[in-house]
Amino acid sequence: MLTRTDLRGRVPSTVELRATLPRAEMDVEHVLHRVRPVIDAVRDRGVDAVLEFTEKFDSVRPERVRVGAEAMQRALDELDPAVRDALEESIARARKVHADQRRTDVTTQVVPGGTVTERWVPVARVGLYAPGGLAVYPSSVVMNVVPAQAAGVESLVVCSPPQAEFGGLPHPTILAAARLLGVDEVWAVGGAQAVALLAHGGRDTDGAELLPADMVTGPGNVYVTAAKRHLRSLIGIDSEAGPTEIAILADGTADPVHVAADLISQAEHDTLAASVLVTTSPELADAVDAELAEQVARTKHVERISTALAGRQSGCILVSDVDDGVRVVDAYAAEHLEIQTADAAAVAARVRNAGAIFVGPYAPVSLGDYCAGSNHVLPTGGCARHSSGLSVQSFLRGIHVIDYTEQALREVSGKVVALADAEDLPAHGQAITARFQ
Ligand code: NAD
Repeated sequence: MLTRTDLRGRVPSTVELRATLPRAEMDVEHVLHRVRPVIDAVRDRGVDAVLEFTEKFDSVRPERVRVGAEAMQRALDELDPAVRDALEESIARARKVHADQRRTDVTTQVVPGGTVTERWVPVARVGLYAPGGLAVYPSSVVMNVVPAQAAGVESLVVCSPPQAEFGGLPHPTILAAARLLGVDEVWAVGGAQAVALLAHGGRDTDGAELLPADMVTGPGNVYVTAAKRHLRSLIGIDSEAGPTEIAILADGTADPVHVAADLISQAEHDTLAASVLVTTSPELADAVDAELAEQVARTKHVERISTALAGRQSGCILVSDVDDGVRVVDAYAAEHLEIQTADAAAVAARVRNAGAIFVGPYAPVSLGDYCAGSNHVLPTGGCARHSSGLSVQSFLRGIHVIDYTEQALREVSGKVVALADAEDLPAHGQAITARFQ
């Protein structure tokens, strides 16, 4: 049963709403102090430190951290054909969507003889994180690699935690997915130590070098996300794509069986995952509670799901009408937002803050996790107020190229000098006038 907050009949301010809405007790801020020593040790002692943390957190000590080409090919050769087929479909759909996202360079003629071009240049080397703690995520290999390749990134390295049951290699489906996508550099390392190794670079036990990445992207648990936050600026990061969240805005037309199934599907990721129902209908809330009780008991990961649903980060919020519901979900800024109301497309069009919006009864979050074509690496913890999910754009930098002729500069020189003088930076003006003396 979801903890209920009744906001009917009152419309709290955005500030009040943010304080009221459910959020996890253990968030990124709370674990920063735990990941700092890990990051410092990897910076100072490289792979030796990585292997110590791997032994501690992943209960395995691989002989080498870099995965060999034979292990990757073997994983692909032995992949279940049905999973290979599904991965290929997922890759094809994601490539279709991401190919359309590529920006083109734009040149603006400001004045005759004066142009500014915005040139989009891919980041040179990126580290892509595919989680592999409580679950394994070959889908995240797809969601990271496809936009990076579409952006034209030349050098890609994938990191994923080593698995004790596979002799210290990442899960075979991770290796197979990387191989399918044409990625040949994979390192068996997870958690904060993976982000630190990607940021600082290092040398494997056999001398193989991991060159530092300019940027690290990908989802992960709270430790991975905290490491990305700590290292940002040394490296670029995408959004903070931490423990998963689903919010569902529903009215009395929604099917409680679907709503409960979708809340459970995201709670399955992590005990810190958040499942939030915002509804105008107390009857629907009751029916969803009844469904949760029945459906959770039938899932494979009952304990994880029950913990996530009972956590402070999950709950049900009753609102007077759909307009108030939109205000609530905007204040919450969920990673995934489902709209299950009458006229869902019109309601979805009014939402401003969400990582991704799933419209109507036939676009559940699980579709987006794997095969919608959209990206599933999405901002969590309210970051959807200011950040986007992973896209081709994440891997591109816009460089302004300024090109003026002598005449065009001469014509504007007086204005540049006036502004330079107004800022008490006369040498700026002098750099202009020196050209015309
Ligand atoms: P993970 O790979 O993110 O984390 C596993 C690693 O965490 C381990 O390798 C270990 O080194 C480290 N670790 C475990 N316990 C630790 C501890 N006590 N201290 C320090 N480090 C520790 O895999 P996961 O745990 O399965 O988590 C995957 C996460 O990714 C889930 O929270 C899921 O919700 C999230 N996710 C988010 C998105 C998104 O776009 N926001 C998408 C997919 C998955």
